[in-house]
Amino acid sequence: MNLLEGKVAIVTGATRGIGKGILESFVAQGATVIFTYISSGSASEDLVNKYGDKVIGYQSDATDFDAAYKLVDDVMEKFGQIDIVVNNAGITKDNLLMRMSHEDWQKVIRVNLDSAFNLTKAVLRPMLKQRKGSIINITSIVGITGNAGQANYAASKAGMIGFTKSIAQELGSRNIRCNAIAPGFIETAMTEKLDQKVVEEWRNNIPLKRGGSPEDVANACLFLASDMASYITGQVVSVDGGLHM
Ligand code: NAP
Repeated sequence: MNLLEGKVAIVTGATRGIGKGILESFVAQGATVIFTYISSGSASEDLVNKYGDKVIGYQSDATDFDAAYKLVDDVMEKFGQIDIVVNNAGITKDNLLMRMSHEDWQKVIRVNLDSAFNLTKAVLRPMLKQRKGSIINITSIVGITGNAGQANYAASKAGMIGFTKSIAQELGSRNIRCNAIAPGFIETAMTEKLDQKVVEEWRNNIPLKRGGSPEDVANACLFLASDMASYITGQVVSVDGGLHM
């Protein structure tokens, strides 16, 4: 099946982890993917070497409002359409509130939440003209449940959910859908830094008894990006092995 044949997608932060998984599943289903990164130049080159003209790597800081417009302008000039946007770039700077610096609060909000505003705003005009589009925001179950030691991250991800539902309401009449995916514990570079004992405990608490893979998230993203989800908007799809029900 080529679910995304002829479609053009932008995926932010796709040099590794979940973003890379999304890129790979989109390409496998026929899409052309423009992906961003900030410092992983060599990982970006590897992807371009592997997938040729089906992917374009673009060094673009997701926190930069003007850079989002430049990205969209460049993609429109080259392809004349943008069908899918996945706001995936994200970071953690965990600490208890007592020890959390103002800088770490702001950095996480900027990378995780401002970034979604920046690119969604930039892509609005072309999608409105096309009268179609699918915007997918990668939030987290932590944005639904909260998490001690992640007040900044949880706030940014909860913000993304409110943003998603609002955009879905504003743009539904123009056939632009906006959904969120809330991954649970997905094993990527972001989670490699964690204490392995804690990781084992997490796995045991998950009904499906394993951490998720980038591919698990990518499969949900593929569905929401495709026309198979043409009547689905404003939803938060959890991909968490049943952790949050
Ligand atoms: P990751 O492995 O750390 O990868 C993050 C990606 O984002 C990298 O490609 C990175 O590129 C890029 N990036 C970071 N800051 C950026 C910026 N300012 N502008 C553009 N790109 C930037 O992360 P991940 O675990 O795959 O997570 C991806 C998303 O899923 C995040 O939004 C995260 O919050 C969410 N999530 C993850 C989990 C999990 O368990 N892993 C669970 C729930 C939600 P550079 O290397 O060039 O910086």
